[in-house]
Amino acid sequence: MVARIARPVRIEGAVSDHTESRTKRDEVVVPLRRRRGRHGGSEALDAVVVGGGVIGLACGWRAARRGLRVRVLERDEPGAGASRVAAGMLAPVGEANWGEEALERLAVSSSRAWPRFATELAGEAELEVGYEPRGALHVALDRDEAGELRRRFELMDSLDLGVEWLRPRGCRELEPGLTPSCAAGVHAPGEAAVDPQALLPALVGALQNAGGELSVQAEVADPVLDGGRLAGVVTTDGREHRAEHVVLAAGAWAGTAAWLPPGARPPVRPVKGQIVTLRGVPEQPICTRIVVSERVYVVPRADGRVVVGATVEERGFDLQVTAGGVLELLREAYRALPEVAELELVDARAGLRPGTPDNAPLVGPGELDGLVLATGHYRNGVLMAPITAEAVAAYLAREQPPPDMEAAHPGRFAGEGAPRLAPAPVTQEAPR
Ligand code: FAD
Repeated sequence: MVARIARPVRIEGAVSDHTESRTKRDEVVVPLRRRRGRHGGSEALDAVVVGGGVIGLACGWRAARRGLRVRVLERDEPGAGASRVAAGMLAPVGEANWGEEALERLAVSSSRAWPRFATELAGEAELEVGYEPRGALHVALDRDEAGELRRRFELMDSLDLGVEWLRPRGCRELEPGLTPSCAAGVHAPGEAAVDPQALLPALVGALQNAGGELSVQAEVADPVLDGGRLAGVVTTDGREHRAEHVVLAAGAWAGTAAWLPPGARPPVRPVKGQIVTLRGVPEQPICTRIVVSERVYVVPRADGRVVVGATVEERGFDLQVTAGGVLELLREAYRALPEVAELELVDARAGLRPGTPDNAPLVGPGELDGLVLATGHYRNGVLMAPITAEAVAAYLAREQPPPDMEAAHPGRFAGEGAPRLAPAPVTQEAPR
């Protein structure tokens, strides 16, 4: 079936628990020889990827680019999960958190990979990617917030994130649309954003142009087990997809994948996020950088759209857009940038982030032989797509993943009961 990208669906619809403040480049491709098939006379796949979000598509593309035979299976349409809802910030500075230094290094490493990833993606897909290196301004809107922002700034600075502390005047010089009550700011010129509406079609195009396959409306329902090894999956239409490896990229649904034995399901839970899209005049943007306050972020796009996000809610698989959620986002955006009130309200939707117990993704070998995890990216799946895809392609090619990826190794949960995940490998396997 030919893959299509859906038009954005409006979701109609608990007051948010709180809003999220996101106060929070290189590889040589060595094509591998395609192996001949061994299963039922047809050519075997090197990998079947379950889930066609930004992570599954990026993994599929980078694997196909290495010459691996890969098929991405998506039960709905590409990006139907969290990926098409995301604001698309590539903003590791705002993610800096005490005790999460290894995760921060991973985020920074992936953000540095983004410019080249975007260029190669655009080239392979022959499509715009929507990558915009705008920079970000983190703002405090009163004295209390300024105190907290100063503490965060010291952490950012200690991590060498290339940030600058600004007084109110400096903030308003950068962003004249800011409220006069802006009390302080942190300028992070290296931050960027990408538009998922452009990114997702580009990933589909690049995957297919690199020789990978995408099947949509293809829901994985059962495993193919060969002895104790996962040797592929079966979709609800009864079709068997045999492969050397199965990559689990099912986002927030990875932890409840009923087709996997319970002990092989990773510790991933859904974390709801609501987000609003507004529209203004492209020539008179309300801000030119990403503006991040303690409670919301505002992401301007080149075509005049302005994205305001996002709530963070522990509500299981609930996807309702609520009056309370939208109210909170708009109120907080208005506090920072009063001209928000003049913009057209275009869209409000909710998505499910794949959360993990320590907020770091799970990328690497799963509990079951043959299973590779590429999930749990929580608030940063778009940001971490390049490094995740590189790591997964390396695992599939039996090569060593990028060193920063150690923070995402599923083996860190080994010994904590279910899921019992294999510890990090100590030896490098031979490349093929
Ligand atoms: P998903 O995009 O959810 O894709 C998983 C796919 O698997 C789905 O399409 C689903 O249909 C499919 N699937 C599930 N089960 C099966 C099955 N059995 N068979 C076949 N297919 C299956 N990240 C950033 O980096 N920057 C941001 O600014 C940002 N903003 C965000 C704002 C909001 C409001 C939200 C909700 C998230 C945001 N994120 C952001 C997080 C980001 O969206 C996620 O981390 C990322 O999209 C996860 O991608 P994924 O491919 O793992 O999951």
